[in-house]
Amino acid sequence: MSEQAVVDNLEFARRGAVLRGELALAELGRLRETLLSSQGTLNYTLSGKTGAKGECLLECSIDGKLVLQCQRCLDALEYPLHVISTLKVVKGLTQFDDIGDEEEYVDSIPASAAMSVSALLEEEILLHLPISPLHAPGACRVQNGVKLVKEERTNPFGALAALKGKL
Ligand SMILES: [Zn+2]
Repeated sequence: MSEQAVVDNLEFARRGAVLRGELALAELGRLRETLLSSQGTLNYTLSGKTGAKGECLLECSIDGKLVLQCQRCLDALEYPLHVISTLKVVKGLTQFDDIGDEEEYVDSIPASAAMSVSALLEEEILLHLPISPLHAPGACRVQNGVKLVKEERTNPFGALAALKGKL
């Protein structure tokens, strides 16, 4: 099911609204470029909140599995995704200056009467992905910079041995 939800993000936060749903990976164009497989869905919860100082907050929680590409061996790497982030909805750009040091850990997004939920969540996922995903040491086909011969599909030494056998 495609998720085309659009919300007024300030209103959503003030009301303390909660939206739960699924995101189809195939429909997340920017994220899809980083994936080896675009099959499957992610579960999300978007919760509106009001902070201690009356600020409008959105809490995103996203869970699921992604298939990334290991940047060492180029094989598939299953990546469990758990994103939990809080975003502050800020009206107008001038207020960015007022965000104090104490709240540096909270990212800000502009107030919007028609914010695309899937675009927001996709952005959050992209921010949380490893820049260079790698298998754990020992689980990767490439060890110490050398590909393991037994996993090699075209083994040049094997070909040489076969050639020698014919001579
Ligand atoms: Zn690897």
